[in-house]
Amino acid sequence: MPGSKRQIAGSTSTAAGMVPIDRRRFLKGTTAALAIAAREGVALGYAATAPYTFTHGVFEISVVSDGHFVLPPPNIAADVGFLYPDTPRPELEAFLKGVGLSIDRVQLPNNVTLIRTPSDLILVDTGAGGGWQPTAGKLVENLQAAGIDRAKVTKVVFTHAHPDHLWGVADDAGTLRFPNASYFVAETEWNFWMAEDVVKKLPENFQRFPLGAKRDLSRVKDKLRTLKAGDEVVSGVRVLDTPGHTPGHISLEIAGGEGLIVAGDVVANAAVSFAHPEWRFAIDSIPELAIQSRRRLLDRAATDKTRLLGSHWPYPGLGIAERRDSAYRFVATS
Ligand SMILES: [Zn+2]
Repeated sequence: MPGSKRQIAGSTSTAAGMVPIDRRRFLKGTTAALAIAAREGVALGYAATAPYTFTHGVFEISVVSDGHFVLPPPNIAADVGFLYPDTPRPELEAFLKGVGLSIDRVQLPNNVTLIRTPSDLILVDTGAGGGWQPTAGKLVENLQAAGIDRAKVTKVVFTHAHPDHLWGVADDAGTLRFPNASYFVAETEWNFWMAEDVVKKLPENFQRFPLGAKRDLSRVKDKLRTLKAGDEVVSGVRVLDTPGHTPGHISLEIAGGEGLIVAGDVVANAAVSFAHPEWRFAIDSIPELAIQSRRRLLDRAATDKTRLLGSHWPYPGLGIAERRDSAYRFVATS
């Protein structure tokens, strides 16, 4: 396990996160993938990324790549300063240079979590679909390539309703990609995006966000249940309130071992916000609350040695928060 200082109890991680569990399983997956592709008439032309799979407690967890995207989004001038507007420019540039990031745009992976329980297949977020950025929206192809039948997904939980987490819920014709699933989102999140005046609450650059959220949440409203902090999606998968990135952003706490938290976008960029959780991130809806949630999560994870899984951390996005000076450092454990 290169880069990892510790073997996690109860974990059977794969080396470097590049290949699934074993050859027999991989071949079985490939055969199933071809069968699904044939049935759905899909050509597997896309160079698929194999899911990263590990066990945690009674769960088998796979991280499936949805591709990647860039920030600031293409409709906004290329300038990372836009993303961290309160940080003095020389400090930001020096920091980004130190961690090897561009000062124009940052590229973020889009990691989607799949939790297999004895009775359920739970997808956490649905990726970006075709309408966000062309390099994202690869979830369906990667599920197919891994032999995972999307019709077998029983539950879809949204950490929040931003494009890269929600817009993959349906295809361009509006057909649900996970037709047999029930859907879950925090009540606060539903209320925020479905309110008539939400458009007025967001800057002009972000007007696509509420339009897309209303469109896609409406598509699942008959199959949707709202969640509150402490609710269990299934036994052992519990809702953790982590608001601020959006008003109703949630994480999922997964029972087993020293714990695992599927953290969504509480810490959007591993290279920046572990080291500087206090830097305001322009895409956080309620910046002060987002900073509080970020600090609380990182403090807890560092103290308890809880593993974290981040939507946009280096694929597959699994790691721990290690204390460093007055902040933290992301240490990948995959
Ligand atoms: Zn995101």
